[in-house]
Amino acid sequence: MNLHEYQGKEILSSYGVGIQKGILAKSPEEAVEAAKKLTEETGTGWHVIKAQVHAGGRGKGGGVKLAKNLKEVKQLADEIIGMNLVTPQTSEEGKKVHQILVTEDVYYPGDSEPEEYYMSVLLNRATGRNMIMYSPEGGVDIETVAEETPDKIFTEEIDPSTGIMPFQARRIAFNLGLEGKAFKEMTKFATSLYKAYEGSDSSLFEINPVLKTSDDRVIAVDSKVTLDDSALFRHKDYQDMRDTREEDATEVEARDAGLSYVNLDGNVGCMVNGAGLAMATMDLIKFAGGEPANFLDVGGTADAKRVEQAFNLILKDEKVEAILINIFGGIVRCDRVAEGIIEAYKSLGDKINVPIIVRLQGTNAEKAVELIEEAGLNVETAVLFKEAADKVQKVLS
Ligand code: GDP
Ligand code: MN
Repeated sequence: MNLHEYQGKEILSSYGVGIQKGILAKSPEEAVEAAKKLTEETGTGWHVIKAQVHAGGRGKGGGVKLAKNLKEVKQLADEIIGMNLVTPQTSEEGKKVHQILVTEDVYYPGDSEPEEYYMSVLLNRATGRNMIMYSPEGGVDIETVAEETPDKIFTEEIDPSTGIMPFQARRIAFNLGLEGKAFKEMTKFATSLYKAYEGSDSSLFEINPVLKTSDDRVIAVDSKVTLDDSALFRHKDYQDMRDTREEDATEVEARDAGLSYVNLDGNVGCMVNGAGLAMATMDLIKFAGGEPANFLDVGGTADAKRVEQAFNLILKDEKVEAILINIFGGIVRCDRVAEGIIEAYKSLGDKINVPIIVRLQGTNAEKAVELIEEAGLNVETAVLFKEAADKVQKVLS
């Protein structure tokens, strides 16, 4: 589950990570109130208006703007709330902005120049350990830094039995070229950032930029956080942070129905029980010359209701030209699944306007095939994987 910048910053702050302070606003009036309050709290003269959408590169798309007085706060808030923000990370239509974060300006002049760094915490799948990835080249596209100057990207692997060690935090501050107060601030920043990542069961915390202010404070100006969905049950207080407006509508519907569904670009919808079989089925579709339109695991209980919900999800996708149902009857018997398919098919009626290929294998497979054939539906049955592939190929050509 992805979070908004302001939500990520709330978690960071709760772990003692320094942040650029801000207040959420949903209207220009709220933005002005927020700005006044921030001035009282922090003494800031200028404010930044930041669109809250699940996409990076907001600055480049005009979703992050500096306001030098309250009139500008109001103007910019008015302009940004409701806009369709297009950034290098959104589709061409962009993302509708429902809310903004009004923040203090932290790039104020002082004894030294503000400096931007990059820092993220994520899992290194090759070593099975969490790592902190960081670079003195922050504020910009980190992918470009990785490509053009890979020597400017550092990593620090964390031993799970000890957590982040003080010497590691010092090495980070040293590699970023810091000294004095800023050095100390950075060791504290990296240590508490790591604790926030671990404590919230996240799979990603990306802070770009981490800012060293002109008076040597170290704070998070931005935050991109991905919480691990499978660990959300341990964090009741984070569950409300989900913003379904930012998510794929079909995926949201699938989650509510308890189905695991991922929308893809292809033309063959698939309905499968078990994640492994679903992956194999996607291979099968490719092998037959099609492209999977989705990943859909209906789970262990493929009853009529779930099959119908699954049909509905797949049929929402206009690119779908055929549906392949591939069920292995282990605990769930194939004849029960067949009954589910027949029932769902009948209740959906005309809504099913594409050919369907069903492969049922396992307990009571023959009986299942019989049931489907007797029902006289526009459904092709197959017992073997290869047979199913050939039938997919036939209906696509
Ligand atoms: P992103 O574009 O979605 O990554 O959004 P960020 O939160 O990273 O902001 C984009 C850019 O806005 C930063 O890299 C900064 O250059 C600028 N910015 C953010 N906060 C401030 C601020 O307080 N003052 C000024 N002057 N610029 C800021
Ligand atoms: Mn950023």
